[in-house]
Amino acid sequence: MFTSPHPDVEIPDLSVYDTLFGGIAPSDLDRIALRDGTTGAETSYRQLIGQINALAGALAAAGIGVGDVVALHAPNVPAFATVFHGILRAGATATTVNGLYNAEEIEAQLRDAGATMLFTVSPLLPQAWAAASACGIPSDRVVVLDGAEGHASLSDLLLRRLPAPDVSFDPATHVAVLPYSSGTTGRPKGVMLSHRNLVANVQQSIPQLGMVADDRILAVLPFFHIYGMTVLLNLALSRRASLVTMPRFDLAEFLRIIQDFRCSYVFIAPPIAVALAKHPLVDEFDLSSVHTIFSGAAPLDATLGRAVEERLGCRMRQGYGMTELSPVSHAIAFQAEGASLDSVGTTLPNMQCRIVDPETGAEVDYPAEGSDEESAAGELLCAGPNVMLGYLGNEEATRETLEDDGFLHTGDIATVRGDGTVRIIERLKELIKYHGYQVAPAELEALLLGHPAIADAAVIGVLDDEGQEVPKAFVVLQPGQDVTAEALMAWVTERVAPHKKIRRVAFVDAIPKSASGKILRKDLRAAEATPAGS
Ligand code: ATP
Ligand code: MG
Repeated sequence: MFTSPHPDVEIPDLSVYDTLFGGIAPSDLDRIALRDGTTGAETSYRQLIGQINALAGALAAAGIGVGDVVALHAPNVPAFATVFHGILRAGATATTVNGLYNAEEIEAQLRDAGATMLFTVSPLLPQAWAAASACGIPSDRVVVLDGAEGHASLSDLLLRRLPAPDVSFDPATHVAVLPYSSGTTGRPKGVMLSHRNLVANVQQSIPQLGMVADDRILAVLPFFHIYGMTVLLNLALSRRASLVTMPRFDLAEFLRIIQDFRCSYVFIAPPIAVALAKHPLVDEFDLSSVHTIFSGAAPLDATLGRAVEERLGCRMRQGYGMTELSPVSHAIAFQAEGASLDSVGTTLPNMQCRIVDPETGAEVDYPAEGSDEESAAGELLCAGPNVMLGYLGNEEATRETLEDDGFLHTGDIATVRGDGTVRIIERLKELIKYHGYQVAPAELEALLLGHPAIADAAVIGVLDDEGQEVPKAFVVLQPGQDVTAEALMAWVTERVAPHKKIRRVAFVDAIPKSASGKILRKDLRAAEATPAGS
């Protein structure tokens, strides 16, 4: 195995609340914790902590505590932080629900997680209420943050000013949150993360991400997904930074908020990097306040990342992780000036990794420390205090993913170099097998994004007339551009090894992406399997 090149950090044996807010310095209480990017409303740390405790008191009075699961279904608004931390403070488990879900999807998660109470917002109430009532959750247990006829509002609960309860649980085993994986490869899986998992990942990320109290951090990545939950709601608040919330991505609004709120640190997923590198609108805003953009959740192409760096005059960083790892396991350090963007950086403190042949399970040979060699590619396995407790209600999946010695199968193919940097090649399940050669769709997508006429692209494997898997590209052209499929294929052929040639091209209006910023190749495959016109 190989270990993190960074010294271990201390992980306090405390709850999330006690770690984040227990020892807050009096001088930090009047700092602004949250700014609503839409209305400009501000919440100080003093107010946030008061609200978290008052909500925990109201939940306890309603009989909610250790052993209960409370669902939180809202876009990024400041009240999300109050409810999220209030649920944990009461000793209950928070399951966060994708704001884009329809009633059936919400219902499936409420049932799977065993939620008995739900927090939502008035614009999402129709689908939330349909789901809750189908699961037998009564109307007085459906709280609407901004209020709605027949339901309590968040301020109704806070105005009761009840003291937070005394709760006791073991931070190492008590499930703090039940986020769901993105559902990129199949049905989203409920992931059990303990208080210790969340506390650990904050502590492990602090030295790598370099956030400070004076940072104004744009919170556009959804809080319901583990990336936004840990890096924004937990890490940024632990640093006493300011979160500027944005409920949904819209390029012009994103740029306006950065400009008007002088955001300094912006966390994104690669689709936003594509817009920042290519969209003409970017030139119309003053983005000089931004010192760092950090991308995660899906592969960021190094050339694209550099283009963003140059256009905005800031540093670009990349991290890697997964819900099952709370989520961050690798990051290019904030301090690593001039670091290449072709890796996801080094392994976080307190972690160990393995790279194994997915067929035989044999471990690859690692390059000598400090050398510029790169290991063979294989599946990445990770161990550390941020590894999940398991999948909810799915022991079989847990057994397949988690080894007895604590190593988690990431399902991603990676290499490691002598300098400790890890390169993610592709998901094991997404590799295209062309005549025995492996082709990584992500590599072809990155190449296509470098074509001046292409605004966005995705690649999947499809079967040709002989039943052979071949790469097919779905391409969105820049407005006003016109290229033929033949010309595009010829352009790619000049730049790749013969087995990686793109052999089919379809022009589309948009690439399907998940709320967390991943290309939904499974949707492209499903459309491919359905005969046209049916
Ligand atoms: P599901 O497990 O439900 O199919 P998912 O794996 O997309 O969905 P997440 O936990 O949100 O759900 O995402 C983790 C995955 O995202 C990783 O396994 C990896 O494939 C991908 N990923 C995250 N960061 C990066 C990155 N920097 N580069 C490449 N891939 C990344
Ligand atoms: Mg996954």
